[in-house]
Formats: sequence, C-alpha cells, structure tokens
Amino acid sequence: MRFHIKLLFLGCSGVGKTSLIRRWTRPTDMYCEPTFAIDVTSHSIKVRNHIYRVRLSDTSGKEYYDQMFNGYIYNSDAILLVYDTTNKESWEKTKDWAKIVYKTAGAKMPVYLIGNKIDKESKRVVYREDVQEFIHQSPLNKLYMTECSAKTGEMALDAYKLVLFSLDVPEREIWMESNADLKDGESSCNIV
Ligand code: GDP
Ligand code: MG
Repeated sequence: MRFHIKLLFLGCSGVGKTSLIRRWTRPTDMYCEPTFAIDVTSHSIKVRNHIYRVRLSDTSGKEYYDQMFNGYIYNSDAILLVYDTTNKESWEKTKDWAKIVYKTAGAKMPVYLIGNKIDKESKRVVYREDVQEFIHQSPLNKLYMTECSAKTGEMALDAYKLVLFSLDVPEREIWMESNADLKDGESSCNIV
C-alpha cells in the first residue's frame, strides 16, 4: 500500500527537530543549518513493504505562536512535539504546544511526544514518568510518547516507525512510480 503523510514538527529551538528530520531522511548527511521560518522536506520510505511518501514541515522554535500556526496544525496528519530530555524548559514548552494543538485541531489530532538527546543520559532531567503523567491527564485522544537520539541514531528509526504505523491515514495514490524500487528501510529524498 502507499500512503502520503503530512507531519509538522514543533518544539523549542535547539531540541533537535532538524537533526531528527535529517536522521530520518538523509542519515549520511547530518549537517544542520539553523532553521528559519518553515522548511519542508519530502521523501519516500519503504517500511514493511509499504511505501510512505512523507512531507515533514520543520519550524525554528524561535517564533511566537500566532494565527499562522493554526493552518499548519489543522492541515497536518500528525504533530511531532520534540523536546530535549536534558532541558526541562523544552518539556514545559511542549506541554504548551500540546494544549495549542488540542484547541486548534481537537482531541483526534495524533500527537507524538518525542524526547530527544537520550545519548546524554547522565544529564537527563525529563523522565518518562513526567511524560506519562501528562498523557494521562491530557484531553488529546491520540497522544504517543517515544524517546531517541538524533545524534547517535539510537531508537530514531523506531520513533519514525511508531509514527508511520500508528497513523490511520487514507491511502493516497498521488505520486509517480519513481520510488517503487526502494529497498526496505531505504529512503529517497528531495527538498521542496
Ligand atoms: P532544532 O533547533 O530543534 O532544529 O535543533 P537542531 O537539530 O538544529 O540541533 C540543535 C543542536 O543539538 C545541534 O548542535 C545538534 O547537533 C544537537 N543535537 C541534535 N540532536 C541531538 C541528540 O540526539 N543528541 C545530542 N547530544 N545532540 C543533539
Ligand atoms: Mg531546526
């Protein structure tokens, strides 16, 4: 089957959003420029014999929330809220974003809480229990949590698979056949 999925990344500046997108789409080239405004990357990835064409919209994390975000949130299939497990403030901001997503798109919008930088375990200040407690009392119905390291790649592909496999998106036959010969786990990428 073929799926076309639109993902929006939100989270503080410096938590590793752009690094995670690189890890998922171009792991051989991990260099990241600071993000300004919204960067859109599209790629195809074949996992378990399904081809996913994924549009990943990256934000800088520096911008203040304004009306512009409502449209982006509303038009996404899922929101990825990335925080730094070694930075408490980034987790607090993530909770604010989750509330904004709920107000904008309602309880059914899938939201993934992604704790990044687990390679810095000795510096960890945000614990799974904190996140589980938040999930428990949040009005969002499809709230998932996972942790990874965009730097080392630890659990990074697992986080992506969690997103791809748990999303209930309609099959959309809207792109060319050029990616049909992808091997399992392989990604072909183009920036738009
Ligand atoms: P963004 O502002 O959220 O897009 O964050 P970037 O992807 O630009 O990353 C900010 C900084 O954190 C860069 O110096 C990255 O190399 C670093 N970084 C990103 N992911 C990780 C990670 O998993 N572990 C560690 N130790 N550093 C990371
Ligand atoms: Mg960035």
